[in-house]
Order: sequence, then C-alpha cells, then structure tokens
Amino acid sequence: MRKIIDFNLLDGLAKDHYHRLNPKLVKPDRNTGRIYYDYSIHNKLSEFAKTQNPIYAPFYSFLESKLEEITISPPIQLLDLHKNIQEEWLKVDSCLKNLEALHGRLLENVFIYESFRNGNKDSSRNIKWFQSLNLKACPYCNRNWISFVKNSNGNNTLLFDLDHYFPKYKYPWFALSFYNLIPSCTICNQRIKGSEDLFLDLHLHPYLDDFDDIVKFNVPAETLDVFFDKKVKIELEILPRPPRTSSDKDFIRAIEFYQFFNLKNLYDTHLDYIRELLQKRIVYSQKYVNQLKENYGELFQSPDEIPRMLFGNYVLPEQIHERPLAKLTKDLMEDII
Ligand SMILES: [Zn+2]
Repeated sequence: MRKIIDFNLLDGLAKDHYHRLNPKLVKPDRNTGRIYYDYSIHNKLSEFAKTQNPIYAPFYSFLESKLEEITISPPIQLLDLHKNIQEEWLKVDSCLKNLEALHGRLLENVFIYESFRNGNKDSSRNIKWFQSLNLKACPYCNRNWISFVKNSNGNNTLLFDLDHYFPKYKYPWFALSFYNLIPSCTICNQRIKGSEDLFLDLHLHPYLDDFDDIVKFNVPAETLDVFFDKKVKIELEILPRPPRTSSDKDFIRAIEFYQFFNLKNLYDTHLDYIRELLQKRIVYSQKYVNQLKENYGELFQSPDEIPRMLFGNYVLPEQIHERPLAKLTKDLMEDII
C-alpha cells in the first residue's frame, strides 16, 4: 500500500538477515575446515552439491559464490541474478528443464523455507527484521492485521505469512531472499496469490513502490446523495493521485496490482464502513475539528490524534501500515483533516 520503509534501513536489515541465516564459526572446524555452522545455507548447499553428479560442481560453486547477493539483493537485481544462474547452468547442461527438475530438491535441502518459517523454536528470531518494519496491516490489501504474539511457552508465534513475490517453485534460490519475503495476510498470500507470478513491470512491489503516492481512493460526488435518495449506491473508485494521470506508467501498474489482488471486490465488502466515513465527513467539519483542538488540545499527544479518534483510524500517509483500512480512511477524509 505504501512503500514499506526507507531503502537504506532495508539494506541493513537484509545484511543482518543474511548473517543470521549463515552464522560463521569463530574458528574454522579443525577436522573439516568449514567456516560456517552446519545449519548455514552455505553448508547445506555444499553438502547438497556432494550428492550431485560432479559435472555440475562448477554450477554449485557459482551458486555458493552468489549466496550473499542472492540473499540481500533488491528485486530488480534478483531478476538479473536469476538470468545469471540459468546461464551458469547452461554451461554444464544444455537443458534448462533439468535445472527445473532440481527446484523441488533445492527447496527441500538447501533453501528450506519451512524450517526458516516454522522449524526454529522461536521462528521470530529469524525474522527479527519484521519488528523494524513496524508493519501491522498487510502491505498488499491493507485490510487484515499482521502481527506476532507470545505463546504459552514464551516464544513468539507469527500470525502472518511471508509471501514470495517471485514464487519459490519457479525461483527456489530466492526462497529465503530478504526482498522476496513480503510479510502479508494469509488471504492475499494463500487464497488470492497462491503460486501465481507477479511481475515488476506489471505490478507494484511493496518494497519499491508506494501505492499511496500513486493512487487515491475516492467516492464520486453524487455518492453523497445516498443519504437522501435510496436509489443511489455507494461507489468506490481509484484515481491517479495528482499530478499523475490515468496514463501514468505506475498508475497502470497499480491498477494491475489492484486487480490481481481482487481489491475492488474486497473493498466493496466494506461499503458499510465507507458509508460511516461519509457520514462522519458530513458531521465532522473542519470547524468541528478546530473546536476540538481548542477545547481538548491537552487530551491529544499530537494534532493527528484528533482525526484518528473521530474517524477511528490513522490518517497520516506514513501511518497507513499501522491499522487495517487506514489508506481508505485517510483518502476519504484527507480533504477535511
Ligand atoms: Zn492482505
């Protein structure tokens, strides 16, 4: 919905993620000479390579040499890496189908998402970076909460999915790549997206693009007649946020994204909520907001807490991920906030 976070901070989190996945031994093991712990991806990959036909050794060496890049590179660079990986394969085997036949085994033995997500006693340690994102609503739909809670053992249980923007069955080497893991709700990840492909040139990416900066929710002016004329139905539309126009490249990607995640139909299930917002828009005028500021200023820690209280949601662009439907609320209220 809104670009998740500042890119410089993301790069630091991506590097931490790589080191957490690949902890180094303080001293190389005297017997094996290994410099990574057994459970690192480096070790899993070299152990897996030993079980393969030696003619593929150069390919696995290449893959291991790129592990850090694979884990920390932003999405566009990941696609370049994918091409490089295929090219390296073609140097040892002229058939790409043979590489595809390996995908499942790479996912089971090397890039093991399930153990990263669930296998650890406290899996949230592995996605410590999630806490830094301060993400409480799904970045795809902004309709559902995402969070984690302490369970009875005191460990954290993740109550959200990590969507693979580039599906792991097609890009197994990106199954644990930082920028390919999008914290999201189960509905968006499993029910709507499934294993379908998203494409950067067609769809937005939550780490790269800012849906809020590109698109504005709107109800046409005649919708306000809904309170006086029973025949009028509430309609929600999405418009390019000025100065963008409907031919803007990113707006077209945002529309594709909107359709891909079935957001038109999903948001149409919230017409009752939109109706309440429209009522509030009529009742809570700018004058009323100013009066509250004057009379109860000390009750609120910051000026935006007044519209948050009135409209029941966060209203600043940078707070869209704090609560479900915050983007919708902000957009429909922003002319009077
Ligand atoms: Zn969602």
